[in-house]
Amino acid sequence: MSVAKNIQDFLAQHVPNNVKLVAVSKTKPTADIMDAYEGGYKVFGENKVQELVDKYEELPKDIEWHMIGHMQSNKVKYIAPFVHLIHGVDKFKLLKVINKEGKKNDRVVNCLLQFHIAEEETKFGLDLDEAHQMLNSEAYKELTHVNIMGVMGMATFTEDEEKVRKEFKKLNAIFSELKENYFTEKQDFNQISMGMSNDYKIAIEEGATMIRIGSLLFGPRNYQ
Ligand SMILES: *Cc1c(COP(=O)(O)O)cnc(C)c1O
Repeated sequence: MSVAKNIQDFLAQHVPNNVKLVAVSKTKPTADIMDAYEGGYKVFGENKVQELVDKYEELPKDIEWHMIGHMQSNKVKYIAPFVHLIHGVDKFKLLKVINKEGKKNDRVVNCLLQFHIAEEETKFGLDLDEAHQMLNSEAYKELTHVNIMGVMGMATFTEDEEKVRKEFKKLNAIFSELKENYFTEKQDFNQISMGMSNDYKIAIEEGATMIRIGSLLFGPRNYQ
């Protein structure tokens, strides 16, 4: 199996030009990533800090790494020097730590605010009230080394397409509301990260600007 070929075909057949594909390489060997890289693809997502750091160290340095999983504050320091985008900011405390680590590394760290849109309790994320509290606070206005570029969410894992669509619509509405109330002047608050292998078509229809695709490109995983 060629991951490079899978990515090329997937891009050509399913991904509009204005949507960015994050190839989710979690649990997969670096050889698979190198196959994609040699085919010209350089945007990868991981969901565990240790695995992300190990792969970063081993692989070419012009890869754009996305941290898509749940983040613990005490691990931000390991990825702050190089990560391209942290998708899962689900607490103000985490954002403050990212800011601190960004400062230490003299770089502004790109982030998305993760919202809880699914039915399952297990999925992480802010709700709108928490986001408002954060964005209205003085402490937020003092953050100099984070760049909030939009929102991220995960739909309920279900066959019920209407339910998934409703959840993606909700994330899109949250994005618009935040854009209007907090980020009107900020041109690069423009990202909606939603959609995985099983629901990316609906996500694109509902306005995703980034999709995170793993198993369709790399084959099934044995574990999460
Ligand atoms: C694993 C993962 C994906 C990709 O999942 P697939 O179903 O393999 O496409 C996307 N987003 C997050 C947050 C993930 O953890």
